Amino acid sequence: MKISRIFIYDEPSVPEIKINNLAKFLEETLDVPVHVRKNFFSHFKSDRSIAYKLASSRVFNPYIPFEAHTPTEEEVNFEAKSFENNLESGNIILYDGFEIQKIINEIIPNEELSDDTFHLAFTTRLGCTYDYEDYRYHGRAVICANPAIISTTGIIEAPAKPREYYIIMQQSIAQGLNLDALKDQFKGKFLEYHDSNLDKVIHGYALQAIFYHLTAEPFCDSKDCILYNAHWQEDLIHAQINLGKLCEHHQRIIESIKKHE
Ligand SMILES: [Zn+2]
Repeated sequence: MKISRIFIYDEPSVPEIKINNLAKFLEETLDVPVHVRKNFFSHFKSDRSIAYKLASSRVFNPYIPFEAHTPTEEEVNFEAKSFENNLESGNIILYDGFEIQKIINEIIPNEELSDDTFHLAFTTRLGCTYDYEDYRYHGRAVICANPAIISTTGIIEAPAKPREYYIIMQQSIAQGLNLDALKDQFKGKFLEYHDSNLDKVIHGYALQAIFYHLTAEPFCDSKDCILYNAHWQEDLIHAQINLGKLCEHHQRIIESIKKHE
C-alpha cells in the first residue's frame, strides 16, 4: 500500500486547526503532495439529501447499536446550514462515525477513490462507534479508514480528563460552586474548545489515520510517540503537544515507506 496524494478538508469554524500547517507537516513527513480543500460538504456542493443522511446518522441512545433515525425537518435544516460553517448546537450531538464515513465515501467521485489517494476530513460533528465489549457508543477523535475523519469535538470530549477533575467537579456541583474556578485549577491538563494547541494535536491524529491506511496498525504502545492511542487528556498532551514526534520505530517505518515510493 502506498499513498501518492492526500486531500485534506478544512473545518472553517475551527480556525485553530491551521490546516495549511498540517498540509506542510504531512508533505514533509510523507513526501507526497497534500491538497487543502474547504469544508468537505461545501467542496462537493452537498444537497439536501446529504443533509438528510447526516441527520439520519444521529445517535440518540448510546446503549444500543446503530438504528437509522428518521430526522425532523429542523434536524435536516441544521445539517444543511452546517455545510459551509458548522453551527454550534448548544449541546453535543452524537453521530455514528461509520455512517458518516459511508456518506463521505459515497460523495467522493470515483476518479478520486483509488487506494493511493487518501482523504482526511475535519468536522466538529462527534463521530461515535459502538463497542460490543461494553455495549455502548464511545466518542472518537478519529475514524480511521479512507476517507478518514477527525472530529475536533472528539479530540476534546473522547480522551478523559484527569480523575481528580471529575471528583472535584462532583463536589463543586454538590456544593453549588461555580465550575469556572475548577477549569482554572486544571488549566493545561486538558484541551478546551478552540484550544490553541489543536494544530499540534491533529498532526498525531492525521498520522494515525494514515498509518492505519498504510499498515493497518494506527497506534503505538509508546506513550512518547504521537501514534499513542491516548485515553486520557494528560497522555494526549504529553505525546502530541509536549513531545510531538514519532518514536524511533515509527520514524524508521516512515523512512522505509518513503523509499518504496
Ligand atoms: Zn511509535
